[in-house]
Amino acid sequence: MSFQTLGLGPKILQALEEAGYTKPTPIQAAAIPLILEGNDLIGIAQTGTGKTAAFVLPILAKLKESAADGHPTGTRALILAPTRELAAQIEENVRAYARHLRVRMAVIFGGVGERPQIEALKSGVELLIATPGRLLDLMGRGYGDFGGLRFLVLDEADRMLDMGFLPDIRRIVKALPRKRQTLLFSATLSREIEALTDAFLHGPKTVEIGRRANPAETVTQRLYEVPKTQKGALLLHLMNDPAMASVLVFSRTKHGADRIARSLERAKIPAVALHSNRSQNQRIRALNAFKSGEARVLVATDIAARGIDVDGISHVVNFDFPLHAEDYVHRIGRTGRAEQTGVALSFVTPEDRAPVRDVERLIRRPLPRCEAAGFDLSAPAPAAEPSHFRTQRSETARPPRGSARPSRKESGHAQSGNRGSASHGGKPRAKATPTVRGLPGGRTWSPRGK
Ligand code: AMP
Repeated sequence: MSFQTLGLGPKILQALEEAGYTKPTPIQAAAIPLILEGNDLIGIAQTGTGKTAAFVLPILAKLKESAADGHPTGTRALILAPTRELAAQIEENVRAYARHLRVRMAVIFGGVGERPQIEALKSGVELLIATPGRLLDLMGRGYGDFGGLRFLVLDEADRMLDMGFLPDIRRIVKALPRKRQTLLFSATLSREIEALTDAFLHGPKTVEIGRRANPAETVTQRLYEVPKTQKGALLLHLMNDPAMASVLVFSRTKHGADRIARSLERAKIPAVALHSNRSQNQRIRALNAFKSGEARVLVATDIAARGIDVDGISHVVNFDFPLHAEDYVHRIGRTGRAEQTGVALSFVTPEDRAPVRDVERLIRRPLPRCEAAGFDLSAPAPAAEPSHFRTQRSETARPPRGSARPSRKESGHAQSGNRGSASHGGKPRAKATPTVRGLPGGRTWSPRGK
């Protein structure tokens, strides 16, 4: 299968060649012909499968086909996405694929000034990418012309539902022409998603790539059982491996994300944090620093990381194990994208036992337990820690489970440090000193950088 056989037109093919795409991904090969034929479509695919191009390419081709109809100005294609980051990334993709076409397009999301967005709507944009809240707000005030709309895309529909956008989406869709082509993409097919497709789609075809909730085959997964107090030190230790070149670290909380990023920075590891307490400009700066390689680590919360489209993320680190098994799948899907390989490392404490079991059940395989060679779990744990790293009294009293499991050796981490002590049976001391010493490279871990 090649892009040439899909009927996308020479200008799109040229852009794809320039983007370095040699052949369609499975979701593209399956979805593009169905969309070009005019079908409504349910696409079950995770981020990283090439799903954006799967809907953008045929829409661009069809928009250009019908451009000669002399259709009145107004929006012909509307793409709804859950987060500003995802909306901005879809825009970036559309611009790349449409670089040899003349397509008036705009992106609309909250958290930034609305004036330019209103101007764009007034001037008539053919293709609009938007988050539901800001779009509904502007539509409610009479902006936008959707009378000639032909394509509606609901991207990451599962996440839009999780984020409570259903009422907004219903009101937006109500204001759109009924005769249109609707495409819905979701990582999972839940009952709620099925209800949405029943309401908004007509006789849809379904394309499902990979088993539902199956993490990308290209991602190697490992678990590290570690006391809470040692997570920070373990991260620094692992970062000694030069293979950890572009690392996305997940924190459960925004404050935790800030703390982790600051601690890495203090250890001279360039890191940035991304979460919803940051202004839009700070978020864009953080993402750009990570994309350009200026920051080796991006620390993010689940919501903020939604739809992050950065190629070549070498490692995903679950600093905090996710509470929901599906978030695990979303997280690790950030690496191993578009047929590259990736590694997902999860730090787990005894209290993560139930969520780990949930993940193993969901992906239908056990997560391999590992020991970080050269990392001394029995080293003194930091005493005066920020709450994010603090171990509860009950946990310090007992050792983490599964202490003596055989491990896969971490080749990249084995060069230095105290190899003999990487057992998981070590108990954090009750009275600890403020730093973890003995990290390779002479580093110490100090949560407050003192
Ligand atoms: P997505 O799942 O849409 O977020 O896409 C994941 C990544 O794969 C994006 O960075 C795209 O640029 C890239 N990509 C999409 N389609 C292809 C393709 N056919 N060949 C190579 N890379 C692709």
